[in-house]
Amino acid sequence: TQSQPGLTSATHPTPDHGESTYEGHGRLAGRRALITGGDSGIGRAVAIAFAREGADVAIAHLPEEQEDADDTLGLVREAGRTGVSFAGDVRDEDFATSIVTETRSALGGLDILVLNAGYQHDIDSFSELRTDRMRRVFDTNLAGLVFSARAAFPDFEPGASIIVTASIQSFNPSPGLIDYAMTKAAQVAFVKALAEEAGPRGIRVNAVAPGPIWTPLIPGTGWDAEKLAHFGTDTALGRAGQPAELAGAYVYLASEEASYVSGAVLPVTGGKSL
Ligand code: NAD
Repeated sequence: TQSQPGLTSATHPTPDHGESTYEGHGRLAGRRALITGGDSGIGRAVAIAFAREGADVAIAHLPEEQEDADDTLGLVREAGRTGVSFAGDVRDEDFATSIVTETRSALGGLDILVLNAGYQHDIDSFSELRTDRMRRVFDTNLAGLVFSARAAFPDFEPGASIIVTASIQSFNPSPGLIDYAMTKAAQVAFVKALAEEAGPRGIRVNAVAPGPIWTPLIPGTGWDAEKLAHFGTDTALGRAGQPAELAGAYVYLASEEASYVSGAVLPVTGGKSL
């Protein structure tokens, strides 16, 4: 991720995942977390923060992201925690299900499930929306998320926490991201509905809604240099955020500090309204 072409110029800064800045305070001591898409971008920053807060961490990632996954695991282990990774595709029901079972056996249980793996692409006009791309968006952001959540849900203990990486696009859909925005809106419905069912068991379900964040997803979207240069400039803070600037939101939602927070969407958008 650090050497991702296109992310190192002045307009596309190198992502900061908090490698050198995030200090833990034991807020997740003894907890066991699984983060989908935990190799890169937002998921990587969350993995680092969770480990430094005392959690053991499993990450699931696409096979082609093995190098990023190894880097992230190295940082988890440097924090003195157990780290494991699973390479595969969450669109594959068997994989998305098995990562839950394998996390429970590798870490001795599962308390925090971060459903973060996601895919987007941009189009200039609705008529350009290709079925294969749309299916990839729907299957990654929705079906994959449901597969893992459904596998984990029956055996969660009270105090468990599910966190979904939704988006500002859940509420402010851009035409060029129409299929992606549809999935991000649906993720909010998922969070609210599951929070209702999970509540009586003492399980909390929440979402973080990031605004524009510098991760490899962004140059991979296919935007031209001008669009990339303007990325995030329409926020109140006038800039895109860094993955490290999201980590605290996930730590909070996963921790006991958020014991009465469920069915919520926490915006981390640089002040741009949902
Ligand atoms: P990223 O590309 O850095 O990381 C996403 C990771 O998800 C990938 O590295 C990959 O390993 C994993 N992944 C993708 N598809 C997968 C699949 N089918 N199976 C298994 N793993 C898969 O991107 P990111 O920006 O950190 O994205 C993380 C989440 O944040 C996504 O859900 C995205 O929609 C959301 N989000 C990002 C932004 C932003 O501006 N970057 C804003 C709002 C929401």
